[in-house]
Amino acid sequence: MAFKETALCFLFPRRCRYCGEVIDLRRELCNTCRPDDCRITGTICPRCGCEKAACNCRPGKPFYERVAAPFYYEGAAEKALLRLKFGKRPEAADVLGEEMARCLRERYDGYSFDVCTYVPMTKKGVRQRGFNQSELLARAVAEQANIPVKVLLQKDYETPDQHRLRAVDRSGNLLGVFSVPERETADLQNARVLLIDDIKTSGATLNECAKTLLIAGAAEVFCLTAAVTRLRRGHDAPDIADQ
Ligand SMILES: [Zn+2]
Ligand SMILES: [Zn+2]
Repeated sequence: MAFKETALCFLFPRRCRYCGEVIDLRRELCNTCRPDDCRITGTICPRCGCEKAACNCRPGKPFYERVAAPFYYEGAAEKALLRLKFGKRPEAADVLGEEMARCLRERYDGYSFDVCTYVPMTKKGVRQRGFNQSELLARAVAEQANIPVKVLLQKDYETPDQHRLRAVDRSGNLLGVFSVPERETADLQNARVLLIDDIKTSGATLNECAKTLLIAGAAEVFCLTAAVTRLRRGHDAPDIADQ
């Protein structure tokens, strides 16, 4: 390796795009991150975003039209999302945003979106983390897909973490938590909205956000997340039937 390259490597070490481990300059990923292992491929269920074989949707129609994600919340995708959210490394949104934009082209081919928005955090939550990871992902996706981003939703008060609750408690936990600011409702009328979140677990958050957007005048809501949790029969089934 040339001296200049060695010096640069020391000052700005190359890091795995998923987990952030320092790696050889000529590589993109470390030895353990294999994004293809957690990639969602083939025919997917448009309601839970999983491959058909992994779907266990309950009866009942969600408020959103469809949901899609490039990854299951496992392996390299899980590491990148943990680094983004809890390691406070906003650059981890880059690789996930690229994969989400690719997923958007593949899964929502033929659809055009009037506006892109994201699942909000409370003002206090954003202050504590320094950013909303879903906003970073939305901005990365929207830039590549050339869709305007708008802050259509706000989260008015804090709720216990969704993943700590039983599925049956999740929907009730979110009732009335989100709202659309008055100034945004005019632009929202009859719009087809692309709604972005980082991880879909039960789908309750996306569903409540979609419901809020529809009540405020949106025509349709399509969801795109970086990852979905692979459903285990009888445990994490979407609680949309409770709505
Ligand atoms: Zn890695
Ligand atoms: Zn399904």
